[in-house]
Parts: sequence; C-alpha cells; structure tokens
Amino acid sequence: MIVVMKAHASEAEIQAVVTAVEELDYRGHIIRGVERTVVACVGEERGEQHSLGHLVAFAGVEQVMPVLKSYKLASREVRPEGSIIDVGGVKIGGRKIAIMAGPCAVESAEQVESSADAVKAGGAHLLRGGAFKPRTSPYAFQGMESEGLSLLEHAGRRVGLPIVSEIMEAQDIELFVAHADMLQVGARNAQNFSLLRKLGRTKKPILLKRGMSTRIEEFLMAAEYILSEGNPNVVLCERGIRTFETATRNTLDLNAVPLLKQMTHLPVIVDPSHGTGLWTLVKPMALASIAAGADGLLIEVHPNPAVALSDGPQQLRPDHFAELVAAVKPVAEAVDRTM
Ligand code: PEP
Ligand code: MN
Repeated sequence: MIVVMKAHASEAEIQAVVTAVEELDYRGHIIRGVERTVVACVGEERGEQHSLGHLVAFAGVEQVMPVLKSYKLASREVRPEGSIIDVGGVKIGGRKIAIMAGPCAVESAEQVESSADAVKAGGAHLLRGGAFKPRTSPYAFQGMESEGLSLLEHAGRRVGLPIVSEIMEAQDIELFVAHADMLQVGARNAQNFSLLRKLGRTKKPILLKRGMSTRIEEFLMAAEYILSEGNPNVVLCERGIRTFETATRNTLDLNAVPLLKQMTHLPVIVDPSHGTGLWTLVKPMALASIAAGADGLLIEVHPNPAVALSDGPQQLRPDHFAELVAAVKPVAEAVDRTM
C-alpha cells in the first residue's frame, strides 16, 4: 500500500503515519517527491486484518492505495517524477546525462592514472574500473583486489571524478563503503539476494546490472531487495542479455530502457561495451541508448586495449571515447537532455 500525504502535510503527520504502519509490522518508507510525500508500506503480505485502509482517516493523509505491482518501492507510482541519485556530487537521473568510464580492470598504477586522465579529458563524469573481477575462468586475471581499489580511488581523487567499482562479496562491504563512491553489482550477482539485502543496509549508491538472463520484472525485484532494506540509491544498468545470437557478446536489449523508465522511478543507464563486446559497436549503440531515453552510459576505456588483461576487444581507445562523448551530445539535446 502507499499512503499519499497531502501537499502540505506536516512532519509530525508523516511520522504518525509511519508509526501506525510499523505497529502493524510493515515498514514505512518515506519517499519525498517534488509535489508531495508518500509513505510506502511494505512487509510480508498478509490477510485483510492488516489492511491499512483506516489510515485515510489520519491527519494529513490524502489517500491510501494499493500498489498492484510485485515491485513496490521501485514502482514508478511511488515517485512519478523519477529519482535522482547523487554519486559523490554527480547526479544520475536528472536532465543531464551521466557518463561513467574507465578500464574493465585496474591493472597497474600507471594504467589507471592514464585511464583517469583520458576519461576526464574525454568528458566522463565518473571513473569506473574493476578491482575484483568476476572471470569465467579461475585461471584468468582476477583483478588487483583491495590494492586495485586504492589505485582507482587515488586516480579518481586526483582528477576529481567519483569512483565506481564492482563488489562481489558481502565481506568487502566495509572496504567499499570506505573507498568507493558507487558500488557496482555485476550481472553474475544480479540475483544474489543476500548480497543485495546487505547492500540495502548501507546508504551507498548501488549500480545494479541486469543479469544475463534476468527478465525485466526480476531485475526490478532485485532492485526491490536493496530498496526494501532502506537504501533508496539504486541505478539500473542494461548490459545485454544472452540470446541465440553469437555474433556479438550479448544482445543489448534497448527495449528495456523505455520500458524500465515507464515501470520504475529509478535511473537507467546502458553499458554498450558488455552489451556488444566489440569496440566498433560501442559508439552507435551508445547513441541509440541515449535516443531511447537512458540516463547515462557505462563505457570501457583503456589506454591501450590491445594489451588489456580483460575485455580488450570491447574497450575504447581514449581518442575514440572522446569522439563518442562528442557524438552523444547532439543526440542528448535532440531528446531534451543535456551533457
Ligand atoms: C564489468 O562491468 O566489468 C562486468 C564484469 O560487467 P557485467 O557484470 O555486466 O558482465
Ligand atoms: Mn569488462
């Protein structure tokens, strides 16, 4: 259920609703919109005796209505104007397009510093790089782990870009909360519900990637695990799904972008690097993503992709990244966005 407060409801009236909701063993999430505040009530679904309909009689309440979707807190209904997530001062979800870029993996101090300079110069707003890498083979480079995270942090701070990096295990949450500005959950952990719940107990922005065979509704339910624990800072990332097609690494599902934008208030970005697996397809699909309504992009950029320790074929050279950003600008403007 959601309790829609009147436009001028007082703080005391909002709190009285939350208290009443929590006495009935639901959790009351206060969602402050531009026009009005709603209290979204979630909990284990039970019978009629726990119906919250009586709240309509509370001071400051305009209406009480059921959220029919299985994803409640992620549903567009609770915040029709859309959410804007602040990542170290960079806003994702507003009119301005957010671009995160950097190497697939942090490989050395020199490589990450050079990547940071390149993406900053090319027009990125966030520096992204993997320190803990989920690799298909246990014999492949697994990332520089905590040392890699420190190197990424150093490079990001030096050039003035907030950093994004993938967390694979709950035991690393403290490390990431201390050193990263945004925590990425990769495709392989998209439905690791215990990890999602624990990330929901932090307040850090989470970049939740779609799993390779996750349906849209399952994707939103994964986000719901984070939101339901009290962390409202979730950005969704379409990164391609696995289909019968093998000519590209994945099939980038751009249908997901406008569909998700209708279904949820959470910002949606696109990763055409993993979505295609081929650097020559990254720019055209980045343009298509923005035209489809994406709030941002995740682009892999390496100072020298030919020697990259992971994902070489899909990483852009710095000059190609700068060209991509320049090409995105007029597309963004055509769909009433800014860069
Ligand atoms: C990545 O972002 O480097 C990555 C491993 O992506 P995904 O989880 O989408 O495969
Ligand atoms: Mn990668």
